[in-house]
Amino acid sequence: MAKYDAVVVGSGPNGFAAAITLQRSGLSVLLLEGKDTVGGGMRTAELTLQGFHHDICSAVHPMGIGSPFFRSLPLAEHGLEFIHPEVMAAHPFDNGHAAALYKSVEETADGLGVDKPAYLKLFKPLINIWPNIDSEMLGPLLTIPKHPIDLATFGLKALQSGKQIAARYQSKEARGLWSGLVAHSMIPLDDLTSSAIALILSTVGHISGWPIPKGGSQSIANALASYFTSIGGEIQTNQLISTISQLPDAKALLFDTSPSQLLEICGDRLSNSYRRRLNTFRYGMGVFKVDWALSEPVPFLAEACRKAGTVHLGNTFEEVALSERQIWDGKHAERPYVLFAQQSLYDPARAPHGQHTGWGYCHVPNGSQKDMTATIEAQVERFAPGFRDTILSRHTYNTSEMHTYNPNYIGGDINGGVVNIAQLINRPILSLSPYKTSAKGIYMCSASTPPGGGVHGMCGYYAATQALKDLF
Ligand SMILES: Cc1cc2nc3c(=O)[nH]c(=O)nc-3n(C[C@H](O)[C@H](O)[C@H](O)COP(=O)(O)OP(=O)(O)OC[C@H]3O[C@@H](n4cnc5c(N)ncnc54)[C@H](O)[C@@H]3O)c2cc1C
Repeated sequence: MAKYDAVVVGSGPNGFAAAITLQRSGLSVLLLEGKDTVGGGMRTAELTLQGFHHDICSAVHPMGIGSPFFRSLPLAEHGLEFIHPEVMAAHPFDNGHAAALYKSVEETADGLGVDKPAYLKLFKPLINIWPNIDSEMLGPLLTIPKHPIDLATFGLKALQSGKQIAARYQSKEARGLWSGLVAHSMIPLDDLTSSAIALILSTVGHISGWPIPKGGSQSIANALASYFTSIGGEIQTNQLISTISQLPDAKALLFDTSPSQLLEICGDRLSNSYRRRLNTFRYGMGVFKVDWALSEPVPFLAEACRKAGTVHLGNTFEEVALSERQIWDGKHAERPYVLFAQQSLYDPARAPHGQHTGWGYCHVPNGSQKDMTATIEAQVERFAPGFRDTILSRHTYNTSEMHTYNPNYIGGDINGGVVNIAQLINRPILSLSPYKTSAKGIYMCSASTPPGGGVHGMCGYYAATQALKDLF
């Protein structure tokens, strides 16, 4: 008799979600992780100096707090505490002012002057319908919806480009703020569906906030691990899987891996046609990441930036759109959009007393080897003169180092593959059951399946639900 009913490979949010869903259904589940700690994109470490705790990957968690699956777990009882920055995100301009995204939709709109009515007109209806459609929006698209009208209302907006939605706004502030949100999509701002992620991040933010976990993203991983083992799940670390023969017998095998790794590990079990389709899966832009140990808070000129958990550095809509287009076309941007976070402002345990951490990355072409440290620091300095003088130490990851750190980040792509219109639906292949492979009992559950990247666990939840339906 097999010791385990199911084995999950990879302990990212989706690996945990799959393992927990199966274990909660009364099965016996083994979770294997290649590294010496669990967490995938949810790890925190002293990357620079002693006492400075840096989020290696994810930092800010609108999708974590907004995840219908995470909400179903008693993670607070297992040590997870979210902290809400006063300003969720700020977007500074060259004139020293900034637009700000607050949890309150009214407060955000109040700061957008002439665009207040347009902002409220866009987001108020989305905020109202989101609770009816969150599980469906964060799941496979090809299903029969429970609330078709609400889903269509959101979907029709999400099927517009960032540029089309920006046309609703007149002010530099509203257009700039919007561009910083759209650029999370890692596709050009005039690409169809580039609005989808920005609409979700804003709507979820206005409902639940953009919090950071106390102690770092590792706290989410630790809470998931604690809950999983409390219900009888087993975890083994230092188990890098390169062939399926390494795995113990089990009815269900779920892979929190990229399609490329699934092909390497399970290749001969998969049909030729499935392999061919998986081979056409497309990876997107990479990232260049910097973590800083700082002697003091970042001296941003704009007050909203000094209070924000997240700061989007890119100036105007046009500048952000240009840099994202250049990167998409395989070039490095001179003034790239930089996603910056300053967790220690709200979580003092991240750095020694009075000192701070900085977390930031810019997009680069997939597989880029270029050192973007100076370029990123110039973008921070542009909106926070004196920033360079506060740097005590820094740590960087280029795309290869990202990929080595986590084999799922192919060429530095942190989203598990491009999220354009094609791969929003064909993720990883066009199918009514996208988590299923061609081999009975083998499933994919990573961010390369619907709904895609982010720390929410919804890919893992839906993959495990499919396995339960098929096999148990
Ligand atoms: C720099 C950066 C910033 C980010 N910022 C945010 C953010 O602020 N908010 C947010 O929500 N998301 C953010 N993300 C994205 C988020 O981290 C990912 O989308 C998410 O972690 C994907 O989850 P996953 O479970 O699919 O895979 P992962 O989290 O990548 O986990 C996969 C796990 O599987 C393991 N593994 C892979 N292959 C094998 C193998 N063959 N054998 C054994 N183990 C294996 C890996 O070691 C890893 O632990 C960021 C990512 C990065 C890199």
